[in-house]
Parts: sequence; C-alpha cells; structure tokens
Amino acid sequence: MTKRLYDLDSHMTETESVVVSCVPAGDGFDAVFDQTVFFPEGGGQPSDTGTLGEAHVSHVREEGGEILHRIDRALPLGARVAGRIDWARRFDLMQQHTGEHLLSFSFYELFSASNVGFHLALDYATIDFDKPLSHEQIIEAEHLANRFVWRNLPVSASFYESEDAVKDLPLRKHSEGLHPPIRIVSIEDADMCTCCAPHCRKTGEIGSIFVADTSAYKGGTRVTFFCGERALRLHRAQHDDLDAIARRFSCPRDGALAAVRKLSDDYGALKKSERDLARTLNGYMAAELLAQAAPAGKYRLVVRLYAGFDAARLKDLAQAASEEKTLALLMSETDGRLLYVLSSGGGFPLDVSELMPAVNAAANGKGGGRGTLAQGTAPSAVGAAETAEQLKGYFVKRLSDLK
Ligand SMILES: [Zn+2]
Repeated sequence: MTKRLYDLDSHMTETESVVVSCVPAGDGFDAVFDQTVFFPEGGGQPSDTGTLGEAHVSHVREEGGEILHRIDRALPLGARVAGRIDWARRFDLMQQHTGEHLLSFSFYELFSASNVGFHLALDYATIDFDKPLSHEQIIEAEHLANRFVWRNLPVSASFYESEDAVKDLPLRKHSEGLHPPIRIVSIEDADMCTCCAPHCRKTGEIGSIFVADTSAYKGGTRVTFFCGERALRLHRAQHDDLDAIARRFSCPRDGALAAVRKLSDDYGALKKSERDLARTLNGYMAAELLAQAAPAGKYRLVVRLYAGFDAARLKDLAQAASEEKTLALLMSETDGRLLYVLSSGGGFPLDVSELMPAVNAAANGKGGGRGTLAQGTAPSAVGAAETAEQLKGYFVKRLSDLK
C-alpha cells in the first residue's frame, strides 16, 4: 500500500519514491510507488501533475486502493526516483478548495443552504447550493467567508477508524460509503467535514474569496467563485477594462458607468430620430419610385437595389412604394448579405406568396410572407444588380400576362 504523504503534509512538494510496479497503459505507463506526494483526483479536486525521475506525470488516479501515476516513459522496478509535483498548480487548487469549504460553511451557517455539487476546474470553480439565494445573501456569505480568511485559522486533517468514531462530530457534510480510516478536515472555529484532498495549512493562504457569478440551477443556486491568485487576476483584468473604458470617455473610473449609461441613452434617442427621418425620407423616395414605375400590362412594377438599408427601413420603403395595382421589389446589399422585400398595393390580384419563390430562387436566398408583404435574405450579395434586372424582366412579363 502506497504511503500517501500528501495526506499528512499538504505542502510537501517532493520526495524519493521506489517503483513498485510499472505497466503499459494508454499512451504511456501506470506506475505505483512505495510512497508519493502526488494527490490522485478526488473530493472534486483534479490530480497533481509533475515529474518522477525523467518521467512526466500527466495524471494520477486511485483504483482499487492503488495510486496509479500515468507517466510518459517506463521506470525500472525497484528504482529510487525523485518525485516532484507542479506546486503552482497544486497550491492554486488548494486555495480554491479550501475557499470552497469556507464559502460552503458560510452559506450553511447563515442561510442553511447546503452544498450539493462542487466543480473545480483549472480556470474557475463552482458550488451548487440547494436553495435560491439573493444577491444580498451572496454578498453576506462572501463577506463571512473572507472574515475566516483574515483570521488566518489553522486547517487540519485527522483520521478516524470507524463510522462510529465520527458520528458525534459536528460535520457540515459527511460523504456516504467511506472506507475507514475516515479523513476529517477541520478549520478551527469554522468548518468540519469529510474530505480526501489536500488543503491550505492556514486560511490566510487562500488570499481572498470572490463570488463572480450566480445563476439559478435545478431549483437552487450555482455560485462561480475565484480564490487567491485567480481572484487577483480577475480583478486586474476587469480593472484594466474599466480603465480603458474610462480613458475612452475621458472620465475618472468612478464616472465610467454614468458615461456608458449616457452614451446608451443618447444612442437610443439618435436611433429614434434616425427612424423618424428615414420615414419622412421614405415618403419622398417612394414618390420617386412610383413616378419611375415600369408599366406591366394593367399593373405597375417597382424594382430597385439599394446599399446599407436594414430590413425595417427596406420594408417601410417597399410598403410606401406599393400603391394601387403596384408590385414593389426592393433589395439592399447590407453587410455582405442581400435583403429583399416584396410588397403589393391595393387591387393587385396575386398573393405575394405566389411570387416569392421566384425571388428566392433568383437571389439564392430564403424568405416568405403572405398577403401583401414578404421578406427574404440571401447570404451573399454578389451579382445583386444582375439579379434585380433579371427579376424585373421576369415580373414585367408575369404581370403583363395577368388578366
Ligand atoms: Zn476539501
């Protein structure tokens, strides 16, 4: 049985280990040692990585009581090799994991919210709580958890030989089906629960705990949080973004929010003003289009290609340009796509849905509608002028043939 040095000292980064077995597995070998500083994944925490002699350790797992180190080259049986974990990775994971204990404890103490799921990735961590939590509750629990950090409380692990021996302990969480010895992780004056992973020695090592996001999840709340250097990196990135926004507005950082709000309001007012102007302009443009409408038997046809009109503008103009017995086909090359609207005026004998397939086919686009209005889009505007000419010829003939 491998001696699990990480269980006794979470800050031990290297040791000498003797190779007990080494067999080919996956893209490398699975090796077992007499003792190890490598934590196999567990308790939500990813495994350690590092080196064992010349071999690189990509993953460590526990299987049937054995700790299997996945290494990239074979090691001879009985060899004594130096094992060294990637300490930066381990310390970061311990910061998040110990922070998770304090956050879970704080939510439990304050609001009786239980941790029902913990996910620890290499770039973020989440806890799922079993009840809805308000923003104010999140802030309160986050603050309590950080007060435990600032008190720099000792964190310890102890082992118990039976379920009976732990049944009277004030455990926040007790995992089911554990095989003795049962490992209990305690934070003085705060959390106590069953856990197999290595943690910080003192809560001060966590640095800080920051809840970045919350969302409703399965009737409860999912909390995304960052501890230690992760929290610092997040704050630094967001602070730099805020700085860039403030510089853009030539205002101090604490004025950036008001400046963005004002810009957004101004933009909304401008959009409305632009819509009003476009509506007025559409009246003049529609009159011009109708004056130049092509005769087609008893009917008239308007076909025109524009550039840069959005769908709403195009639709307004097409409707304004389809008077009595007139069919209007307006197109616009916008952002590389081709938008088109087919609109008919009063007294026009066909439903536009009967004519739209010909437009879709010629434009290589998709669209539909019924009655007096149909709209469509083609992913490419290449050849739009030729398409417009072709459809004009087609509709002149089609309308001329109508009774
Ligand atoms: Zn833990």
